[in-house]
Amino acid sequence: MSEKIKGIVIKSNDRKEKDVSVLLFSLEKGLIWVTLRGVKNPNAKMKLAQNQFSFGEFVIENGKASQIVTQFELIESFQEIAQDVDKYFEASAVLEAVEKIRFSSEQEQAKVFVLTLRALKSICFGKVKQTYSLCKFFVELFKICGFGLFSEKCTCCGTKTFDRLFVNYAVGELVCASCKSLTSEELPKTTYLALKILDGTDFDRLSTIKLANGSEISLLKVLVKNFEVRFDTKLKLMGILS
Ligand SMILES: [Zn+2]
Repeated sequence: MSEKIKGIVIKSNDRKEKDVSVLLFSLEKGLIWVTLRGVKNPNAKMKLAQNQFSFGEFVIENGKASQIVTQFELIESFQEIAQDVDKYFEASAVLEAVEKIRFSSEQEQAKVFVLTLRALKSICFGKVKQTYSLCKFFVELFKICGFGLFSEKCTCCGTKTFDRLFVNYAVGELVCASCKSLTSEELPKTTYLALKILDGTDFDRLSTIKLANGSEISLLKVLVKNFEVRFDTKLKLMGILS
């Protein structure tokens, strides 16, 4: 029995002879490995289906050992990403994060799929400052997963009058100086402001904002640490924070 799914290529591994294994992030099934047959042939019909970032419709069928792709229709290649090293690093970071998320429901997975496409579009076509799109991706991801980081008040005591604000990484929330715990780290004012602005700005409007110099990098470090603690994982983020 065959099934049609919409997916984004996260990575591919060479298999024997002319076959390639591809890890997809799909709307319908989340992360799934599929096999492309004979795609190393330069004239292969489905050769674009093995390229990282390719987004398309895959028809899959149960094979002996894995799911076999029998048809592929490209929707968006995002090929500009591969041609610009900064875009490449940011977009790869999005896919690296997606691969490590532990989804709690199918609904959450579907929302993250839509978010991933929006982030890739913003990085590919958005004319947005480097790292804004990536930070926005994490900010929205946390909201979808039920632990949005931005808050106008201390999430513990509710005070809105605070001089200093801290990230409590144990729960992924912002707290005031009286409520901070041993695992809390101070969030500098410019970083908080960057978080606030990104939280309130849609992907389509990212090109209209300007964050304080360097604040997007300090924010990205906070977002990445929060991601790593929430999902008990490590991100390499090649070319971005290293
Ligand atoms: Zn408090």
